[in-house]
Amino acid sequence: MGELRVEVFGHASVRFSINGKTIYVDPYSEVHDYKGDKPADLILVTHNHYDHYDPKAYKEIETPLTTYIVSQNVGRVDSRYTVLANDEICSWQGISICAVEAYNVNRRNPQGDLFHPRGVGNGYVLDFEGFKVYLAGDTEPIPEMQDLPKIDLAFLPKNLPYTMTDEEFVKAANLIKPKYLYCYHYFEIDIPKLKKELDPAIELLN
Ligand code: ZN
Ligand code: ZN
Repeated sequence: MGELRVEVFGHASVRFSINGKTIYVDPYSEVHDYKGDKPADLILVTHNHYDHYDPKAYKEIETPLTTYIVSQNVGRVDSRYTVLANDEICSWQGISICAVEAYNVNRRNPQGDLFHPRGVGNGYVLDFEGFKVYLAGDTEPIPEMQDLPKIDLAFLPKNLPYTMTDEEFVKAANLIKPKYLYCYHYFEIDIPKLKKELDPAIELLN
């Protein structure tokens, strides 16, 4: 399949380039100016919060041929959209894309609702002919992480009050034990501290 190029734009926004195809994950116009960027062959959206589902960013990169793969709480906006529920898999250009669970267990807004209720938002596992990339989405550490396949590259969030504390981030990472790890969707980060606590087999790329 050739070389996988990974670019991180900040927040939860990532771009993959492989085999002449360009895949954007949660493009977000507040962290990157997409004007003039490579057109999107695929846009993956984890959930419907404004910092993940941002049509302003899509305007700059979409074409009539762009495929969207989105969560249930985004829904089928037009005919280019495919909705994946948790545990559903589809294949796109030889890449297997599996939607996995992403949700809060404890963290709630002042009204008492979980920021990310179970079952409506997605994480994704992308399988590039055996090289597996896990994008966790907005989630706390959840039991389903134990059932993930062997992950080569993981993106895990770390920000309060919405996702994980430092301790939870480390716990989740050590459970998943990816070869490479990227902390995304964070407000502040103490890299030396995280490196000390992470399993030495994991390479933190931040
Ligand atoms: Zn969110
Ligand atoms: Zn978020």
